[in-house]
Amino acid sequence: MQGTLAVAAAATLSGAGCSRKREGSDVAAEATSSPKLGWAIVGLGKFTTEQLLPAFAQCQRSRLAAFVTGSAEKGTRLAGRYGVDEKSVYSYQTFDKIAQDRNVDVVYVVLPNSMHAEYTQRAFRAGKHVMCEKPMAINEAECSAMIAAGKAAGKRLMIAYRAQFESHNRAAIELVRAGELGRIKLVIADHCRTIDPKDPADQWRVRRALSGGGSLVDIGIYSLQAARYIFGEEPTEVSAQLASTPSDPRFTEVEESALFSLRFPSGGLANCSSSYGTTNVKRYRVIGEKGYAELDPATAYEGNTLRVAKGGAAEARAVPATNQFTAEIDHLSECIQLGKEPRTPGEEGLRDVRIMQAIYASAREGKSVKLT
Ligand code: NDP
Repeated sequence: MQGTLAVAAAATLSGAGCSRKREGSDVAAEATSSPKLGWAIVGLGKFTTEQLLPAFAQCQRSRLAAFVTGSAEKGTRLAGRYGVDEKSVYSYQTFDKIAQDRNVDVVYVVLPNSMHAEYTQRAFRAGKHVMCEKPMAINEAECSAMIAAGKAAGKRLMIAYRAQFESHNRAAIELVRAGELGRIKLVIADHCRTIDPKDPADQWRVRRALSGGGSLVDIGIYSLQAARYIFGEEPTEVSAQLASTPSDPRFTEVEESALFSLRFPSGGLANCSSSYGTTNVKRYRVIGEKGYAELDPATAYEGNTLRVAKGGAAEARAVPATNQFTAEIDHLSECIQLGKEPRTPGEEGLRDVRIMQAIYASAREGKSVKLT
């Protein structure tokens, strides 16, 4: 991971895009007559409508081309607003017809977590490239099947880890790689919020069959990602505890809170948390031999900040704010057009799912779990 991120960090900060073509990659570059690839969005929920659809306006390489939804009324209304042809509004039943829609190059899966694997594989069977939301899927077997389907189709698969395209997080990675903080010993990362049973977007999140887990898989994954991309290496051991408020009806199927620690091969440790029962927290701290960096918030949609403290003096780092969604979406289009591997391919999603399964096993068994 370190090598990829180092190349990617440099590329992003200098304005370029994808990581180098992976050796043995069998997905060719695609020559297209239009400079913008057509994207079909599957699932017109809260995240899609509030963040993703508006972000396409600034994209240089990507345009909205189709919607897939269970609500024809919503699909038609949003098609009108975003200039999508009404003929390119599909239902979940008619989705496979997208194979004949030459206007669509990429399918973006923004559905409840347990539906990611099915729609990713159906999109590959339809001959499209895929962007899939986090968490990639609800178990390792599903992740592996998704990766295999992409390879069989000769199409790209990227997991939508937006923080890896966000300028403050890129700047933090850069300053760590440049050795500004000395060797990194500790990462402390917290991602918390309150789940609202009245919000439809939160209702499936507390149903295990749809979500695959609680706060860990939904937002603890940002703490896990931060630890991995800051250290630039893979954890070798995890230790975890889960907790839920007794008799809180929101948490009968999934955990409210998770605390987990990760051991890294270079001698670093990460202490991470997630909760569905607290005020909003989206932050991490990176503590090194010579200084520390603090991002608070670190993974908000906008308004992230980076503070660096060295030699007793702390200062805010000026980092240009960019649209992380636009950057992420255009990154996949660029990789498809240039025949390169995305920075966050399916294998990156599988790594997180594997580690989160080990975190659950550690909490269940009451002992640390080694990762091989
Ligand atoms: P929502 O509930 O708001 O949206 C999910 C949409 O999926 C629904 O609106 C619906 O769209 C469709 N859907 C199809 N079947 C079902 C079903 N059985 N139950 C519920 N919805 C269904 O959730 P979010 O938009 O918040 O999350 C969607 C995905 O995006 C998740 O994987 C989540 O982890 C990810 N996400 C990522 C974020 C990030 O920052 N990267 C932030 C927020 C979410 P329709 O009515 O069109 O059929």
